[in-house]
Amino acid sequence: MNSRRPKDGRGAFGQCQDAAVKLRPTGLRQVVNAVTLATPLGLALARAGHATVVRGPDGLLLALDYRAPVPAPRAPAVTVGDVVLLRMSSAELAARPQLLAHEGRHAVQWACWLGPVGFLPAYLLASAWSWFRCRDFALRNTFEVRAGLVDGGYVTSGDRTTVSRRSRPLPRRRSADRRRSRRA
Ligand SMILES: [Zn+2]
Repeated sequence: MNSRRPKDGRGAFGQCQDAAVKLRPTGLRQVVNAVTLATPLGLALARAGHATVVRGPDGLLLALDYRAPVPAPRAPAVTVGDVVLLRMSSAELAARPQLLAHEGRHAVQWACWLGPVGFLPAYLLASAWSWFRCRDFALRNTFEVRAGLVDGGYVTSGDRTTVSRRSRPLPRRRSADRRRSRRA
């Protein structure tokens, strides 16, 4: 996960606004995601999807070889609370070292938005806005942008500067990801 800290002293709320910054301490994120039932929901999905749950970095729980068709049948990774539902093996995950940094930021977002009650409608609204803006659920979705489009595999690293400047043309999706349409 990106360990970059804010430079403007915005405090905890500011950190929530910029999930590229990890909410400290990680334990607080875990407590909030547990109390709001986000992580229990993720674990229930992992069990329903016959995944193998192992401990990952930064307090994340990795649900490997997830096979259920919900919540996003074509997404290689979906984070629910502190649980990362992964439609891949540990070997495949190792080949994508930046993916967990992206998903870890989503775990922070789940906590900042107080779990399913807050995060789910906010994320869906942001997805709809993104679709309205550019016919893509992620590229203008503030949660995905703040989690890191490059780390999430939505765009190539060569598009990094384009992503942060909205006056520029839309970033190109990776051709493979265009077909896989990741969501969260
Ligand atoms: Zn994402």
